[in-house]
Amino acid sequence: MKTALFLFISIFLLTSTKAHQIQKSELPVRGLCIAAPSPNNLDRFMKFIKDDLKQMNVNVLVLRIDYNYEYNSIPELRSDNPLTKNDVEKLVGACKTAGIEIIPQINLLGHQSWHSTLSKLLEVYPQFDETPHINLPGEYKWPNEDGLYCKSYCPLHPDVHEVVFSLVDEIMDVFEANAFHAGLDEVFYLGDDKCPRCSGRDKAELFAGEVWKIRNHLAQKDRKLWIWGDRLIDGKTTGMGMWEASMNNTARAIDMIPKDIVICDWHYERPDPTAVYFAMKGLDVITCPYRRPEVAIKQLHDMVNFRENSTPEMSARFLGMMQTVWTGAGNFLDAWYKTKDTSEGVESQANCFKTLFEEINKME
Ligand SMILES: [Zn+2]
Repeated sequence: MKTALFLFISIFLLTSTKAHQIQKSELPVRGLCIAAPSPNNLDRFMKFIKDDLKQMNVNVLVLRIDYNYEYNSIPELRSDNPLTKNDVEKLVGACKTAGIEIIPQINLLGHQSWHSTLSKLLEVYPQFDETPHINLPGEYKWPNEDGLYCKSYCPLHPDVHEVVFSLVDEIMDVFEANAFHAGLDEVFYLGDDKCPRCSGRDKAELFAGEVWKIRNHLAQKDRKLWIWGDRLIDGKTTGMGMWEASMNNTARAIDMIPKDIVICDWHYERPDPTAVYFAMKGLDVITCPYRRPEVAIKQLHDMVNFRENSTPEMSARFLGMMQTVWTGAGNFLDAWYKTKDTSEGVESQANCFKTLFEEINKME
C-alpha cells in the first residue's frame, strides 16, 4: 500500500512538474551580446567561448564590432588596435566548435559618437553627419542644451550606404555570418530641422526607410537583419520614456518595417511584456536583460509562457533570451572570472548572465 501510494504520488509529482517544465530546446535563441574583445583579450575570450559559453548552452553570440576590425574595403575606417582577419578566424573557429552562431554588429544610423568622440565614420566622412551644426563638447554632460546623446548619420545622404554596406559585407564574409545586427537603438537625431534632405519628413518613415534599405541589402545574400526594438515603442503612451522607447515619433515605424527581421527587445528595470506587441505585429522577438537577475528571471518565464500559451503562429515568433553586456569584453571577463575586484554586487551583468542561464538550464 505504501509502495502504491508512493508510486501514485511520484507519478503525480512527475506529471505535474512536467506540465510546468520548460524544455531548454524550446528556446531557439539563448544569446549573449557583448563588445568584441580587443586583440589583447582575445585568448581569454576564446577560453570563455570554449569553456563557459559552450557549457552554459549559449547558442548565439552578438559581437559588437563597429570599427574594431582591420577593414580592407575602407582601411581609413579602422579603429586603433583593431582585430585582424586571423583573430576573427580564431573566434569563428571557436564558436563553430562550441555550436554558437556569431551575429556581428555595426551600429548603423545612430550611435555615431560617444560623449566627446566621433565615430570613425563621421571622423572620416563628416559630410554624413545629420547634425553638423552641433559640436561635440569638450566635456560631455547629460542632459545638455543640444539634446546630444549620440550623433547619427543622415539616412538620405546619397553616398552613406555605399560606405557602410562595404563594411557590413566585409564583416559578414569574414565572420561567415547569416545574420547581421544593425543596432538602430536610441536614435535621437533623425529628420533634423536643419538637414537639407531630412527636414520636415516623417521620422517614422525615415526610420522605416533605413530599416528597409539595410534589410534589402542583406537579403541579396539571404542574410537576416536584427535590430534593437526601442524606436518601435511609443515612450509617451507606455511611460517607458526616451531611452527604452521612442519620444521622437518613430514608433509608428512598427507598421512600416519588413516583417522578416528580428527585434531585440531590451528592458532592464522591469519585465515589460512588450514581446507580445512585437509578435502581434508579425515580428520575431528576443527579450534582453542587463543587470538585474530578478528581472531576467521574470522575463525568461514570460517568454516561455508566451511560447506555451499562444497560437502556433505567435508562439514561433518568441525566439528566446539574450543577455546584454555594456562594458568592454575585458572588463566583463574580469567580473566573470573575478580576476579583479570590479566592485559589482548582486546587480551586475555577470551575475545576471549567470543567473539567467542557470534558470534556462534548469528547465531541461
Ligand atoms: Zn538627413
